[in-house]
Amino acid sequence: MKQIVQNKTVNFQSLTKSVGKFNLKNKICLIPEMNRIGSYLLAATFRGFGINARVMDTYKGLELGNEYTSGKECYPCQITTGDILYFIKKEKEKLGGRFNPGDYVYFMPEADGPCRFGMYNKYQRIVLDSIDGLDKLKIASLSTQDGYSLDGIIGKAQVKDLRKASYFSVVVADILDRLLWRIRPYEKVPGTTDRFIEKFMHIMGSAFETLGPVKKFDMIIDKIEEIIEQGKTIIDTDIPSKPLIGIVGEIYLRSHVHANQDLIRILESYGAEVVNASIAEWVNYTSYGNLRAAVTGLKMNLRQLRPGQVKKYLKKMISFKGDLFYQEYRQKQVYKRVTSVIDLAEDHKVANLEKILTQKDLLTFDIGTEACLSIPGVLKYIQDGFNGVVNVYPFTCMPSTITSAIVKPLMNKVGIPYLDTPYDESLQPGREAALRTFMYQAQNHFKRYGRKNIRNRSRV
Ligand code: SF4
Repeated sequence: MKQIVQNKTVNFQSLTKSVGKFNLKNKICLIPEMNRIGSYLLAATFRGFGINARVMDTYKGLELGNEYTSGKECYPCQITTGDILYFIKKEKEKLGGRFNPGDYVYFMPEADGPCRFGMYNKYQRIVLDSIDGLDKLKIASLSTQDGYSLDGIIGKAQVKDLRKASYFSVVVADILDRLLWRIRPYEKVPGTTDRFIEKFMHIMGSAFETLGPVKKFDMIIDKIEEIIEQGKTIIDTDIPSKPLIGIVGEIYLRSHVHANQDLIRILESYGAEVVNASIAEWVNYTSYGNLRAAVTGLKMNLRQLRPGQVKKYLKKMISFKGDLFYQEYRQKQVYKRVTSVIDLAEDHKVANLEKILTQKDLLTFDIGTEACLSIPGVLKYIQDGFNGVVNVYPFTCMPSTITSAIVKPLMNKVGIPYLDTPYDESLQPGREAALRTFMYQAQNHFKRYGRKNIRNRSRV
């Protein structure tokens, strides 16, 4: 690990002064790539609102990431540290003396709560501060605490519209991903679906850039319908249905194809059709969690007769309820339209996931983290007739380890194939064998029980 702290005095003030909400006007906003389509559409949406947003190359700077981390950090932290350092290296090479770190703002959201996601941007701040001149490169951080509010990064008048368009871009990216996983296992000509989705990712990017700021979301949905109609022609209808595999786990790993060593494609190569948990589910979960906390705060302060606090929590409650209502309405609207054209898996409603957890008495939302989504997500896959479930996560990830501990015995009990796949950058020699064995079991489950038609599934 580079001696970042040894050579420089860490300026702890920088953790608050240079990490937070910064106006992105006249800056180049650097967006890390987590899920490829999602990052691309989000950057396009930002550009539509006048923000000069760029998605950084990913996984090319892993060596740099390793150099500046000790190996004890979460794997996504190593990757994203490498991504920003690699970007800077390349930009310096390109611009030479014209490179000015103050021109850029690096976008790294965070989550509060018991795991380490809240620390990535602080750690990366220390790393950047240790390199000459990079203390001027600010880190824009959105937090789950205020439901990833965009206040402060753009003029007040545009904040709400940018939030709406950004959320919509997340939902549309989920749908394009689901379309990819729905069509690719059944394509007539290998490679067609990848090229098709890549092409339409760019078309949707342009749509978000022009239609997002004027909130012409219906026109975007019309375009999605056209894309799906075209996508259906790729499917070879003579190929019979395949075993359905559900993925849960840590959001970065399950979305980042390099980090998870292209797990979905590998499962497909062994005969699976795969559905991954969505990104919008996490955004809805943060709004839901904030609403939940506001309701708790309101009740507590009502009991203690503290009018000032009651007013504060009431205001928060109304605001988060509004966010969640809008998000769920918009998401439902899009899925309703697309599932009338193709049988894509719909998304979960977070309140229902909490209900499942409570009924089964497995975990509480009070603990938080992605385990709250993954555990009931697995139970929903079981209900919906999936033939196997894979839990994907960074090696040592705390929430996913909780998920594994709770879910594994349950899966053994109900006899549905289940596999934990912890990842770091190493290529595990046993991984291939584990995946093949898992798929062998899933094929057998499929032969014995078949699978339910996704189209007939109720919205959870
Ligand atoms: S979810 Fe897992 S990988 Fe992500 S920060 Fe938390 S512990 Fe690390």
